[in-house]
Amino acid sequence: MALSWSQFNMWRDCPYKWYGFYRLKLVPRVKNIHFSVGSATHDAIQKALSAWQYKSRLTVAEMVGVFSKYLQDDGVVSDPDTLQYWTLSAQNMFQGWMGWASTHEIEVEALEKKVVTTNFLGYIDCIARVDSQRYIIDWKTSSSAYDQKRADTDDQVTVYRWLDGCTPDTKVAYGVLIKGTSRFQFLESERTDEDVSKLTSEIRGMEDTITTYGVDDMPEKQPGSPCKWCELYSMGHCEGEDDF
Ligand code: SF4
Repeated sequence: MALSWSQFNMWRDCPYKWYGFYRLKLVPRVKNIHFSVGSATHDAIQKALSAWQYKSRLTVAEMVGVFSKYLQDDGVVSDPDTLQYWTLSAQNMFQGWMGWASTHEIEVEALEKKVVTTNFLGYIDCIARVDSQRYIIDWKTSSSAYDQKRADTDDQVTVYRWLDGCTPDTKVAYGVLIKGTSRFQFLESERTDEDVSKLTSEIRGMEDTITTYGVDDMPEKQPGSPCKWCELYSMGHCEGEDDF
């Protein structure tokens, strides 16, 4: 089974949670509105940038159209009021994104790039030159602004830097659309070869550990703040930490 960023990140939070999700499959995959809004936003940006490659520009209204169709096709939103709420939210978000995009020289190299190593699978949202600088970009749809520290330390983009082959002169960035607002953040940062090497040895550690587990072996629980949002806790599969 190829690992992914989501799996590795969950393992870091709590190995037992990973075990419940990926080995025992205790948590059914259920779509929710926030996941769908994030996917619909990605879809609209990818289509806008795809047109950008051919010197064509989608308007904000066209991006909202892509977003809205995605939500309807996804089947999560059924009532018109909810659809209208998210459509208005998307209009603001795409205005913010377009305000940023239209004031920079963007040269797209890859969109939704699938990268597979021997045992790791990742999708990089976007690799592009922005004002001549090459970036690995991950789009985020967030309910609040990111701080720079997150862009400087979050390992999701470190993984993408690794999957991109540590190409020289490449920076990483989070492009953050803040739900319901027209504020867009382009938070750039860097990852060194040392950052990548530290992370890949941690990934190898996880691989080594999970391949030695027998079917009935359970990894350690790691009670702490992740318990608050853990489905295994809310579904009664784990007592977690009861001192929230
Ligand atoms: S409730 Fe806490 S200890 Fe239990 S699986 Fe979830 S994160 Fe781990």
